[in-house]
Parts: sequence; structure tokens; C-alpha cells
Amino acid sequence: MKKEYSDKIAENGQLIVISGPEGAGKSTVIKRYLGAHPNAMICVSATTREKRADEEDGKDYYFLSLTEFERMIRTGQMLEYGYFNNNAYGTPKKAVEDARKAGKNVILDIDVVGAMKVKTLCPDATLIFILPPSWDELEARLVKTGYYDEKTVNTLLEIAGEEIECANLYDYVIINDDVDKAVNRFAQIVHGNRYSRNSMKSFLESYIEGEVKPKVKELSKVLND
Ligand code: 5GP
Repeated sequence: MKKEYSDKIAENGQLIVISGPEGAGKSTVIKRYLGAHPNAMICVSATTREKRADEEDGKDYYFLSLTEFERMIRTGQMLEYGYFNNNAYGTPKKAVEDARKAGKNVILDIDVVGAMKVKTLCPDATLIFILPPSWDELEARLVKTGYYDEKTVNTLLEIAGEEIECANLYDYVIINDDVDKAVNRFAQIVHGNRYSRNSMKSFLESYIEGEVKPKVKELSKVLND
């Protein structure tokens, strides 16, 4: 049976990749955005790093042993994986694919190397880089978390320098000088990106091939969101 235009547009939610230095405020921006946009979800990554006091297994990360992590890699369950500050991190593939097929916009909070891998594997992904307003502010935020000693703060600042050099490989750059404004900028990007050539690729292919049948009234249901 031919699909409706609306079905075809509504399927394949966007894949949004966010990167930025530790302390740029990525998770705060994402949490705030998700609170107001139930059609989006963050993909929970797996990691071998220790769970922090305020984190929950299955919600913030899947906290795995290195053996479990490596088994996921071996059995092809990771979309991408990488190492950051001596810990392994990876994106479970099935969760991303299932959510996108159900029309959800999926957000990945991953490092720069992971983001580039995702762009190669999923060319329709949109890459957003979040920048802190200044180096001084970044350092102040890292210290304020209370998670890191001075040596680790310096290491993270060095890593931040390398990451920021990659920001020009991203589709969008958001400066997080103010959380409300940064969330708003993020929402505008996701909204505007809904009809980018990249996001409409599979719809366009089906349209050209005549695989979708015209029931134009149905369109407005998905076009108004
Ligand atoms: P944290 O340990 O502070 O939660 O995260 C450290 C870094 O790992 C962040 O830059 C974060 O974006 C990155 N990260 C988190 N999950 C993943 C993942 O699934 N894949 C990759 N490549 N990086 C990740």
C-alpha cells in the first residue's frame, strides 16, 4: 500500500548531534529543550566511567564494565564509540534507529570525534557545537561543578581548546552565554532544520519515485508542528 505524504514526512525524526567542551552547558540546554519538546529524546550513551553521585544508571548513562562495553562493540551494537579522558563512551545503535523510525527527533550528546563518525555514517545528521562565552567563564564553570581537581580542570581546558578548533566542521554554533537564550537558539535550529534538504531527503526520494500518494489535507497535520 502506498504511504500518505504525512506518514512519510512524519517518519524519520531528525538526528541532532551536540558537542562542545565540558562545561559549555550542553546537558542543561538539552534538558531544558526536552522539557518543552516531548517529540524529542536524548539517546542514553553507554560509558565505562564511574557514576557520579547525582547520576542514575539508564537515565544519564548506561554504566558498563569495560568487558560489557567491548562486547557491545563486538556484536555491532554501537553506532559509534570513542574514548574521552581515559573512559570509553558509545552510542547504542538500535535506540537511535527505533526512535527515528517512530518520528522522534533524537539528540546525541557526544564528543567531536564521535560527531564526525556519526556524520559519515548518517549524512542526514545535523551537527551543533555549543561554545561557552569565554575561556574564563569555562574555567569558572568547571571549578564550580566540584567534580574536578585543579589538574583535571587544566586537562579539560586543554581538551576544550582542541575541541573548539573543530567547531567549524559543525552545521551550527551556539554560544551559551545565557541558558534561556541558548535553549531558544537550539529550538530555532531544530525547527528550521525540519525542512532542510537533508531532513527531507527520504521524503523527496519517495515523492519523485511516486511512492507516496497525494492526500494533501493530511499534510497540514504534520506541517504545522
Ligand atoms: P561526561 O563524562 O562529562 O558525561 O562526558 C564526557 C564527554 O563524553 C563529553 O564530551 C560527552 O559529549 C562525551 N560523550 C558522551 N557520550 C558519548 C558517546 O556516546 N559517544 C561519544 N563519542 N562521546 C560521548
